[in-house]
Amino acid sequence: MNYLKRFWALSFLSVAFLAAAGGSALASGGSASASASAAEPVRVEVETPTPQAVEALAEAGLDVAAGDVPKSDVILWSKEDRLALRAAGLRWRPLPDPRPVTSAQVSTLPSGRTTYRVWEDYETEMRMLARRYPSLVRLHSMGETLLGQPMLGLEIARNVWASDGRPAFVQYGLHHAREWPSGEWGIEYAIELLKKQGQPRYASLLRNTRQFIFPVINVDGFRASRGAGPSPIGAPDSASSLLGPGSNEYRRKNCRPSPGEAQRPCSELDTEAGVDLNRNYGYFFGGTGTEGIASSEIYRGPAGFSEPESENVRLFSRRLQSTVVLSHHSYMEEGVWLRQPTMDPAVAPGNIVPDEAEFTALGNTLATATGWPSWPAFQLYPVAGATDDWSYYAQGGLGFTSESRGPDFHSFFDQMVRNEWPGMKEAMLRAGEASVREGSRIRGAAPPGSTLRITKRFSIPVCQGFTETDQCISPTPTIPEILSSEMVVPASGKFSWRVNPSSRPQVPGETWRLTCQAPGGDPVSREVSVDRGASVTVGLANCKPGPAGRPVARFRLIERAIAGRRAALVSSSTARNTLIVSNRWDLDGDGAFDDAFGRVATLTWRRPGRRTVGLRSVDMNGRVAVTRRRIRVAPRPSGRPSLALRISSSMAGTDVVFRATGQLGTYNWDLDGDGAFDDGRGSEVSRSYRSAGTYPIQVRLTDTFGRIATRGSSLTIARPPDPGAEEPLPPSAPDR
Ligand SMILES: [Zn+2]
Repeated sequence: MNYLKRFWALSFLSVAFLAAAGGSALASGGSASASASAAEPVRVEVETPTPQAVEALAEAGLDVAAGDVPKSDVILWSKEDRLALRAAGLRWRPLPDPRPVTSAQVSTLPSGRTTYRVWEDYETEMRMLARRYPSLVRLHSMGETLLGQPMLGLEIARNVWASDGRPAFVQYGLHHAREWPSGEWGIEYAIELLKKQGQPRYASLLRNTRQFIFPVINVDGFRASRGAGPSPIGAPDSASSLLGPGSNEYRRKNCRPSPGEAQRPCSELDTEAGVDLNRNYGYFFGGTGTEGIASSEIYRGPAGFSEPESENVRLFSRRLQSTVVLSHHSYMEEGVWLRQPTMDPAVAPGNIVPDEAEFTALGNTLATATGWPSWPAFQLYPVAGATDDWSYYAQGGLGFTSESRGPDFHSFFDQMVRNEWPGMKEAMLRAGEASVREGSRIRGAAPPGSTLRITKRFSIPVCQGFTETDQCISPTPTIPEILSSEMVVPASGKFSWRVNPSSRPQVPGETWRLTCQAPGGDPVSREVSVDRGASVTVGLANCKPGPAGRPVARFRLIERAIAGRRAALVSSSTARNTLIVSNRWDLDGDGAFDDAFGRVATLTWRRPGRRTVGLRSVDMNGRVAVTRRRIRVAPRPSGRPSLALRISSSMAGTDVVFRATGQLGTYNWDLDGDGAFDDGRGSEVSRSYRSAGTYPIQVRLTDTFGRIATRGSSLTIARPPDPGAEEPLPPSAPDR
């Protein structure tokens, strides 16, 4: 296929390009190759005389390359790591001959996982993180996929429910169904952020930016691909023969049926069916690097945003001021960060975008973290209508595509995920930090509690045809678009809003329309022009509130209250024409508002029944509102959660796949028969056994009510067949 030929030809070209450009230090791999110029990362040897000391390293959130008594190897990725090590009170020294971080080490993921997640794992973990950290994590659904699955994601920030002027750092994964590593980065990063929320570097990120993580965009396609069998396939070589359509496991596109085909479950559809979601975004829809034939791997669909998955990303993201966006994909053998979107000559003459310098600088920063190169995207392959076209050309955020390092779309988990994790983690942290620096700023003063809104209307260009060489002909403004974000002026009356530049790249002279509506007052508007990196102050003297009235106290439960399960309450109190500045909770019904402070309160009711909860809210003028509500706490569901276990049969030396199905919860595995559930996490795990024999296997499910179920089975490992011997027939094989 044209696409494949081009893909391979270009990847060879690019390697040549790198070598010529003197990029060999990066091309050669090893995450630590980047340390030549910077102080980090470095390996140190830590004295760990006891098992407790080894544990203390992990608890401090450090990257332990080898943890053992009496000495452990630790990789320090940042100054904060150094401080954390010091705080742990352990003695350490840099290794005299610092060995590079090599592929021989497999790091530990924040989740502890050892296999690729299935969709149910993503869903469970996101719901559980939102429940466990209700003031830091907010679960969002962008909408539904073509087959009706929710497109779930997380927003992570300190005081996540506030409406303030922080910028957004957005990550997407799994636009392409078979690119399993691309979903793992975001969810592991979420767990990492929450585990280490107290460390200065993480705390600063949580304070200064809003991090959005949508690990799986193509939920339908991923379910079909990931559910296709015990994967990954063993031999990397055989992967290339499956690059194209032909198997469910190697599906790339969404689950739109082929022309003339009825909608059915994805795994029953023609394997050539579907739209390439990363060609379906409206901006420059139809340009070079896309095809109009439905069976093509890069089929762009009938129109920009024709697919619910890309349309949902558009609708969700257009209210965010996303200064940095990462769209994760796999794979390239060297790994790569693709910076700068579409490079069609009709779009960007000379392949230069206005923000080339920022793109290059940030791309190089990400590259040194992972040890992968960073290239302008057009040097790898042409793409149009991709996620970063939308992020950059419509919104002005710096958009990057990652192609995970590895030999296949989803090769061995250790190789493509665990081994790459330390570098990828650092890259995501750096991208998050960049989201705080990038963009522009609008400042000013307005009455506390005023709602500020910036909007911009324009039309996004679509290619009107193609030359013989697939070049976009006269991109024409066609699809109407509106961007609109809002924030609330804090109690100080001063605001500083982190926004993207008012002009789209290549469209100079555009402005944000800023509307200020003070509580109870009339809206007033200004046109605001702000360049990338600039800060402007706007005068809003005529944005005035109406007369203040009494506040009203209100709250809601995030989820139904059930005995034994943590509940979270969120205040939605309002003050007429001014701002609520304090919320205090009475959670034990004793009449005193002394059980919790702040917008979100959490508690666990041990027993079912009726409980009284009170909220006392105070506005800026010191006026008080109180509300009390009776809440019905439902009993914990009785009995045990349902749980089933399936084991793929296997031979010594090959991967055995264990799958558990049951309720939402945590799955832990005992795969070596020692009675400890410490051999794997998640609803699907795999392991290979060296010798033939019978092994007891157990899985334990702890559901979200704390109920526990275990299932056991025994696994019989057969000896691998001796290739020289003839296969003897079973003695009494019936003839059928
Ligand atoms: Zn991809």
